[in-house]
Amino acid sequence: MSYEQQRKNLVDNLKREGYIRSERVKDAFLRIPREDFLPLQQRPYAYADTPLQIGHGQTISAPHMVAIMCEALVLHEGQNVLEIGTGSGYHAAIIAVAIGDTSHVHTIERFAHLANVAETNLQKASITNVTVHIGDGSKGLPSFQPYDRIYVTAAAPAIPPPLIEELKEDGILLVPVGNVYCDLIRIDKHQGKTQSTSLGGCMFVPLVGEFGF
Ligand code: SAM
Repeated sequence: MSYEQQRKNLVDNLKREGYIRSERVKDAFLRIPREDFLPLQQRPYAYADTPLQIGHGQTISAPHMVAIMCEALVLHEGQNVLEIGTGSGYHAAIIAVAIGDTSHVHTIERFAHLANVAETNLQKASITNVTVHIGDGSKGLPSFQPYDRIYVTAAAPAIPPPLIEELKEDGILLVPVGNVYCDLIRIDKHQGKTQSTSLGGCMFVPLVGEFGF
């Protein structure tokens, strides 16, 4: 079966299972070829709904987890978004398409090699509204704050305080909190105060760094 057909089938399944709920997220999943964000030997498994190895002991997240996070972020045009944990660049690409060209995604990765590969992957997918940064994202990315949306794609021991500071009023922050087995926590910021909601269990590689493990 062609990659395109596999992609359509995956999207149908993610919709039926309730992970994809909006047209915006559905269209982004259909537009971005997950196979192009994977090392060659992983490409045959591109449309299995599972995390896959991308090198340096790191993974591209399972499509259903990308969908859960995209929907929880309530994406729309004009947003300034920060991703902590670029990995392959796939999740950033989905968000970039979902929020459109008038918006921007900043994504930060601690492994320079993964960041460079992600940049190439994003270029290949003709994504022009993502900037890849190298560094410790547990400290946030102050130069481009405040952010409408921030999401972390690695498991943190607790919510990193700089991320709350860099979040805009009425913004949404998503952080998996725990040691590999974690709770996906959504933080809403209103009138300077934060409200925290658990969105359920998940598994992520650890966030490493000053506010990580
Ligand atoms: N979003 C990615 C994708 O679409 O492929 C998957 C990310 S992977 C599950 C988690 C990533 O977070 C890894 O690439 C890891 O190196 C990175 N990471 C862990 N701690 C970090 C930190 N403090 N700053 C930046 N990146 C970090």
